[in-house]
Amino acid sequence: MNPDSRKIRLILAMRRTGITDTRVLGALERIPRDAFVPVTFRDRAYDDVALPIGRHQTISQPSVVARMTQVLEVGDRMKVLEIGTGSGYQAAVLASLCRRLYTVERHRELLDLAERQFSALRITNITTRLGDGALGWPEQAPFDRIIVTAAASAMPEVLAGQLCIGGIMVVPIGASDGDQTLTRVRRTDEGFATETVGMVRFVPLVPGIAAG
Ligand code: SAH
Repeated sequence: MNPDSRKIRLILAMRRTGITDTRVLGALERIPRDAFVPVTFRDRAYDDVALPIGRHQTISQPSVVARMTQVLEVGDRMKVLEIGTGSGYQAAVLASLCRRLYTVERHRELLDLAERQFSALRITNITTRLGDGALGWPEQAPFDRIIVTAAASAMPEVLAGQLCIGGIMVVPIGASDGDQTLTRVRRTDEGFATETVGMVRFVPLVPGIAAG
């Protein structure tokens, strides 16, 4: 099967499993996941699996990217922060739905590769930073939306504090050796409202910048 028919098969499967937002489905159709997958795994780019990208990290499973993007409720005027650039795929999907996407990664090597893909695909509304995502991006705060694509052991209060009033953060919370609770946090006038939107499995959020 050629990559386009594989991609269409994957998108149809997502529609069946509850991805109903046509903007999200459109973004998944536009962004070539194969560009963000190492050459050795490229024939599996449109299977619904997480794949290794080096440095013991993974590109998220497409259905997880779809679900997280849908529950984030991104609008085209929004300023969005992602923690954990990894391959850059989730960033590219979000960037096609918002005004500007800021993304933080602790591995320089992964960030360099992701940046190369953004240029190759002519995506110009992504700003990257090498750093500890747990600190967010205070100089650019507040954000309309924040997505954390690594597992936090507890509610990341610092990040929640960088949301606008009315802003939404989606974050996997729990131990990294099992499933985590995908949590949606909404900042209101009075404080924060939290709800569970599913279970996911992510690599852990690790403090500090990676050596080497
Ligand atoms: N969004 C990615 C999936 C990333 S996997 C994609 O679409 O491919 C999680 C990523 O979070 C890894 O690249 C890991 O290095 C990064 N990460 C973990 N802890 C971090 C931290 N404290 N700050 C920034 N990035 C972090």
